[in-house]
This record gives sequence, structure tokens and C-alpha cells, in this order.
Amino acid sequence: MEELLRTLARMQRLDDQIGSLKLLQQELPKELNDIIGHVEQATANLLNSETDRAEIAKKQRALESDIKQHNESIKKYATQLSEIKTNKEYKALNSEIAYLKDKISELESQELLLMDSEAESKKQVERDKGELDEAEKAKRAREGELRDKIASLDAEIENLRAERNKLAHTLPQNLVKQYGNMIKNKNNCAVVYETNGACGGCGFVIRPQIRIELQLRSKLNYCESCGRILMERFDDI
Ligand SMILES: [Zn+2]
Repeated sequence: MEELLRTLARMQRLDDQIGSLKLLQQELPKELNDIIGHVEQATANLLNSETDRAEIAKKQRALESDIKQHNESIKKYATQLSEIKTNKEYKALNSEIAYLKDKISELESQELLLMDSEAESKKQVERDKGELDEAEKAKRAREGELRDKIASLDAEIENLRAERNKLAHTLPQNLVKQYGNMIKNKNNCAVVYETNGACGGCGFVIRPQIRIELQLRSKLNYCESCGRILMERFDDI
């Protein structure tokens, strides 16, 4: 009987390992997606901030060109002033020059504002570049490892299952069936251990008579509450 209990305990240990690997099978692809997602997000952010910066530069060039044009017009009008005959024409030209000068100073204020925006935008591009570098570094460091691990999980689980099934073949068939049902329906846990006088699976307090039976290891016991196979823990399993 003790050997049978040992076999069940070993099977449960293998199923615990299978359970952890199955959890990894769910978690690792998520981690991989996160890592790839961060790089994609950082790439998109950088593209956005670079586009913003290019827009600002375009506006700056347009302003500069307008200012240049206005200055050339002022120069041209100034030359014309000397050739003007009537007072009326003189006044008209002078007011045109004054208008252009106002316009230039307005454009120059806009230019100052744009310089601030350009400085901010440059900083944003630098920040986004830094974040992309970090995201790519994380990807380089972890992606290969994750892909290898994900690829090997199936085989690892298969090996553990084969080992468990080999053990199962040494047990009575109805017991194996019971065990399998509990693994399936009781949260991957068919064998539980006495823990401080209670069932390690559900916490139900074990009667003294049953505790004696568990110590003797002379029969198969089940938790009276959760129905799992109940035994005392083996030191070496
Ligand atoms: Zn229980």
C-alpha cells in the first residue's frame, strides 16, 4: 500500500510540474506580445513626434520666406520713394511700408513662438528615441529566449506526461481513472497532504481516527470534504 501511495504522490508532483508549464504556455506568449507591442508603440510615437517636428520646421521656413519677401518689398518701395512726385503717392507708399513693417514684427513674434515649439518638439523626439532604444534592447534581450522556451514547452509537457503515464500503468485502472477525473475537475489536484491536522487541499479538519490511518499508510484515504486522495507527505517526494 505504501508503494501505491508513493506512486500517487509522484504522479501528483508530475502533474504539478505540468500545471506550471501550462501556465507558462499562457503567460510567455503574452509577455512576448507585450515586448513586441512596446517596440511597435515606441516606433509609432517616434514617427509622430518626428512628423510634428517636421511640420514646425516647415512653418518656420514659410515664415522666414514671408519675412524675406516683405523686407525685399520694403527695400523696393524705399527706392521708389525717391522717385515719387506727388504727396498722395508718397503717403500711400509710406503707409504700405509701415504696414509691411508691422506685418514683419508680427511674423517675427510667431517665429519666436515656433522656436519654443521646435525646442519642445526636439526634446520629445529625443525622449521617444530613448524609449524606442529601451524597447528594442528589451526585445533583443528576451525575444529569442522566450521563443525558444515557448517552442520547447510542448515537448517538456509531453515528457512529464509520459513519465506520469508510466507510473499510472502500475496502478489499478479504476484508481487511475479516479485520479484523472480529480486532476481534471479539482484544480489539477488529486492528491492532498495532511497539513497541521487539516486537508491541504480544502482545509477540512481531519478526524483523529483518520489521522492514525494516514500515519499507518495501510489504506487509501479520501478527504471527507473535498474527496481528494489524502495522505501524509513523504519526505522524499
Ligand atoms: Zn479536502
